[in-house]
Amino acid sequence: MNNWFEWRDAPPGDFAVLGDPIHHSRSPRIHAAAYAAYGLPLTYHAIRVPTGELEAALAHLESLRYRGVNVTLPLKEEAFAWAETEPRDAVYGALNTLDIRTRFGTNTDVPAFLSTLRGFEIEPGALIHVLGAGGSAKALVVGLAQSGFRLRLWNRTQSKADDLAQRTAELIPGARIEVVAEVSPTYCAALINTTSASLSAESLPIPWPSAAQNLLAYDIAYTDGLTRFQQDAASHGLRHADGRAMLVEQAALAFTWWTGKEAPRTDMLAAVYEHPHPHT
Ligand code: NDP
Repeated sequence: MNNWFEWRDAPPGDFAVLGDPIHHSRSPRIHAAAYAAYGLPLTYHAIRVPTGELEAALAHLESLRYRGVNVTLPLKEEAFAWAETEPRDAVYGALNTLDIRTRFGTNTDVPAFLSTLRGFEIEPGALIHVLGAGGSAKALVVGLAQSGFRLRLWNRTQSKADDLAQRTAELIPGARIEVVAEVSPTYCAALINTTSASLSAESLPIPWPSAAQNLLAYDIAYTDGLTRFQQDAASHGLRHADGRAMLVEQAALAFTWWTGKEAPRTDMLAAVYEHPHPHT
């Protein structure tokens, strides 16, 4: 039996994650753990919605009495166009959490990422090296600049890193951001991998420093074991993290946004580690 639905075949429910592909999503399990912890009679489904169909899918889900959805690849920019949002979130250009009835949205990815970074005691003012300039990098780079981090950007296609740096500088006055043609972790507190290279187990062209630099190698992707990026960092004696804590934290913030209740993070975290399949 499928554990996901096409949007036209969706059953009635309360919450859902929408994206394409969606079969691999761990979000239903994470939210189910939160509902179970509170004894809430709520449901959360994974529903496939292709690019260009978000508006129609949301109208259909509203008729089925859904209250809210998370959106993931490739719908975060469409969600931004669909919903109203706070000015704080408007700079990200992408939303991942929507209230269907009020047509209001928020971005819980960026605060989730920033809070996991604080967990490693990396504070504003530190130099952060971001690898990648795709959809998730766009929002994270703006969030990092907004929080006062200094930024070094690298992307395989350099013109996209240039565009992202320029966009960020326009949005965040005083942003300190440089683009580099080659990965260069010198003086950096953290190296953040936002590329999708880990999903195909490819190594990135990184001149890894020695463990003495105390660099954090943080991959926002995750697989069942260590990602390739984490393996490479570990082989150089560096501390490393993957994207599971960020995934759980964005879910926790969405749960609170929708229900007004404190998120049972321990239960939610346990659920993400039980899931047998990789990716979001
Ligand atoms: P995009 O497709 O928008 O961007 C992909 C980026 O990866 C581009 O910068 C691309 O470079 C780069 N890239 C892809 N393959 C390679 C490679 N072999 N070598 C070097 N660079 C490469 O993806 P997203 O930004 O939406 O997602 C990126 C990752 O983040 C995914 O793994 C996703 O699972 C993860 N993610 C995790 C979240 C979490 O909660 N933990 C939340 C959101 C995303 P180029 O421009 O040259 O093509």
